[in-house]
Amino acid sequence: MQATLDDFTVLSSSPEAKEAFRKAIDETLDAILGSIEDDSAFSGIDPYELRKRIGELGFLPDAGKGWEDTMRSVRETILPNMLRTWSPSYMPHLHSPALIESIASELIIATYNNSMDSWDQSPAATEIEESMIRGLCRLFGYGEDADGSFTSGGSQSNMAAAIAMRDLYIERRLGWDVKKRGLPPEARKLRMYTSEIAHFSFQKSAHIMGLGYDAVGLLPVDSKARIDIPKAREIIRRDREEGYLPFLIVATAGTTDFGSIDDIKALRDTADEYGCLLHVDAAYGSALIMSQRCRDRLGRIELADSITIDFHKMFLLPISCSALLVKDRHALDCFLIHADYLNREEDEEDGYINLVGKSMQTTRRFDALKVYISFRMRGRDGFGRIIDTAVDNASYFYSRLSADDDFVAPVEPELSSVVFAHRGGDETNRRVRRSLLESGTVIGQTVYDGRVMLKFTLLNPALTHEHIDSLIDRIKDLAAAM
Ligand SMILES: *Cc1c(COP(=O)(O)O)cnc(C)c1O
Repeated sequence: MQATLDDFTVLSSSPEAKEAFRKAIDETLDAILGSIEDDSAFSGIDPYELRKRIGELGFLPDAGKGWEDTMRSVRETILPNMLRTWSPSYMPHLHSPALIESIASELIIATYNNSMDSWDQSPAATEIEESMIRGLCRLFGYGEDADGSFTSGGSQSNMAAAIAMRDLYIERRLGWDVKKRGLPPEARKLRMYTSEIAHFSFQKSAHIMGLGYDAVGLLPVDSKARIDIPKAREIIRRDREEGYLPFLIVATAGTTDFGSIDDIKALRDTADEYGCLLHVDAAYGSALIMSQRCRDRLGRIELADSITIDFHKMFLLPISCSALLVKDRHALDCFLIHADYLNREEDEEDGYINLVGKSMQTTRRFDALKVYISFRMRGRDGFGRIIDTAVDNASYFYSRLSADDDFVAPVEPELSSVVFAHRGGDETNRRVRRSLLESGTVIGQTVYDGRVMLKFTLLNPALTHEHIDSLIDRIKDLAAAM
């Protein structure tokens, strides 16, 4: 009798095991491709109905049901109700479709399952990650002392940056070793500053770091949704006078809602004046660096002490893929701790680099491979075209809305997000979004100036002006019918 997939556990050099591996991948591929019948983003299924069907799948049978049966349940119940991120009808969040070659990269990552903590768990992977980090440091204008690490996402990069910058500040200013002694007595006075529309990960980080939300000063933004520099300086100056210790300013290069980019040079000057460090959260906007036409919009990003990059947003790589870069490699020492079983100092002296010493994570994915493969394959020009398309679509969409009396669009996009509202009012806008969702088109919703706003985040390079035109028409029709 022929062996089935159920007779194998792991891959090996035997032809039978290789054949089982191929069968699993081939049949998965067929199931994926078979599930794509049109270009809508979502089946529109009611959440209660979906919960009921998922509930019927069960949890852990005593006797395994085998590959064929399991794949049938995946094909019939799960895949049809997955969100199809590649659809031109999907545009609510900073959540992108994945470049085709990067999906194939994931197969390599999972097959070898290397872990980035120590060299003996990831020889080529460690060297690729180090090489990509060095390249990224150069790309963003950093010098030879810079370093960095891949992380699971922008939130983690931001938290790692906040921790690293806090420890650096406290070491330099107060001569205190946080790693060893914990927070110093002055910790209650520490303050970090972000735009009032910055990502919430900084508040979360402040809590986890033992500083609390109150340690995050929210800086007001101007009409272009960028930090208002004179007001920011005034707030920080006053805090200093009152005895607070401003240790970090965060500039956002691409705010989550508006894509607005803070003035990095002005915030660098402010940071220098008040003796604090500067982090740039470029989770969204970092990809502008690839575009000849748009890279100037990033400003002087190389002036930052640390930079967050997300590859699973505008760079269109699969989740998860992010990096933190630091101008001074010493900043990452806060994550270094030697374990006898993992990263022995004697090995490191002989060139066996253990990346665990630069990271909050221990076991960690080889996400750098996706960056290597897509960067090499497409080059800076290929990525530049992808970014230019997204930016161009946003400005086309904005110009259409601005010319139409039915809509208001308060902030001109610098990146690829457009926030707007139909003049029909909050309830109309809410209902338009819900009605689109039920028909398989997913758009975003947020609040601006106390009003419900709709939001498009245009990351998909396959999106055309015709898609945008027809979506505007549908929104007008839906609103008129309400
Ligand atoms: C998305 C985003 C984050 C969070 O990144 P994750 O990868 O979702 O953790 C942080 N900052 C900004 C500006 C973002 O847009």
